[in-house]
Amino acid sequence: MSRIRSVRARVWTWRGPTVPPQPKFCANAADLLREQGDAMQPYRFHQWLTCEVESDDGVIGIGNAALAPHLVKAAIDREYAPLVMGADPFDYACLWEKMYRRTHAWGRKGVGMVAMSAVDIAVWDLIGKLAGKPVFKLLGGRTKDKIPVYYSKLYAGGVDAMQREAEQAMQGGYRAFKSRFGFGPRDGAPGMRENLIRVEALREVLGYENDLMMECYMGWNLDYTKRMLPRLAKYELRWLEEPVIADDILSCAELNRLGVVPIAGGEHEFSLLGFRQLLELKAVSVVQYDTNRVGGITAAQKINALAEAHQVPVVPHAGQAHNYHLSMANANCPMNEYFPMFDVEVGNELFYYIFEGDPRAEAGCLQLDETKAGLGIEISDRHLQFFDISE
Ligand code: MG
Repeated sequence: MSRIRSVRARVWTWRGPTVPPQPKFCANAADLLREQGDAMQPYRFHQWLTCEVESDDGVIGIGNAALAPHLVKAAIDREYAPLVMGADPFDYACLWEKMYRRTHAWGRKGVGMVAMSAVDIAVWDLIGKLAGKPVFKLLGGRTKDKIPVYYSKLYAGGVDAMQREAEQAMQGGYRAFKSRFGFGPRDGAPGMRENLIRVEALREVLGYENDLMMECYMGWNLDYTKRMLPRLAKYELRWLEEPVIADDILSCAELNRLGVVPIAGGEHEFSLLGFRQLLELKAVSVVQYDTNRVGGITAAQKINALAEAHQVPVVPHAGQAHNYHLSMANANCPMNEYFPMFDVEVGNELFYYIFEGDPRAEAGCLQLDETKAGLGIEISDRHLQFFDISE
């Protein structure tokens, strides 16, 4: 039997060239503060955490997380690593409960759960490598030939540039696209008009045969969204994402009940019980957990079952192998988000620079390699010169 002998958490800080994004490329939860200065700071991810869990036979499982990596590292080093040391990694469900319940007073949401997620993903990668199987084969196997993905970028900016980007993405074979609203309540009626101009411009390029989704990143509120929904109705959006802050589940439920545009969310919700609330209140019509926040693969797989029982599809947030393996193994996951590979901008794309092996989309779909055990990724040495790495 293999046992866990070490847990290593490292923070990777990008120091390489960065493309400066547009000033208002996406609304966000801090917009309502009307602060001066860097309003987009909440939407920048230039640091990442890797978590390596090694067994006593020298096999290393890799997990990662992107939120507050220095805090997550401290939580892993001081709290979670000691809880899993010496354990059999195949006892993953028990390990999860141990991490969850021993830290419950402070760890059940936010930084604690992100840290647990990174450890849990590493444990699953380790299990896969020890078993000689890709993780999706341990979760239920193949439910589709390929995973359809949606193109997720189209940050708010100049209308012509957004149309060009949409055109190029369509030529690349994508059939579903997500863009970002740049304006919110503080921009008043002129901002509403700017938002609508961009949706109209995207529909002009994409037509109505392709799916278009719009993201608010928690930068709107209930009143503003209620005024926007009738104006958006004619654009037949597949979903409106996170219109209000993540804790405001009742407002989400109210908006979803209106039935004008389906509400999607969940990338800032945590654990099975968090999603029970979202689903029971019918707050979302699309579940978007992020495996490296929600409690790792162990929690995500339980949420998949719960969402399926509620007849709510799951479209995991973000790209990355851990999300794809879950999408492949669950028939209730019709597609996955996909961040196209670009020069580093907001940092959504940073994982391409840290890891080797994350699958790339071709003609709007991606494939998992059945010959690779675990999650199929390794830590890359190609871009090391651009990172500061803290142990
Ligand atoms: Mg989102």
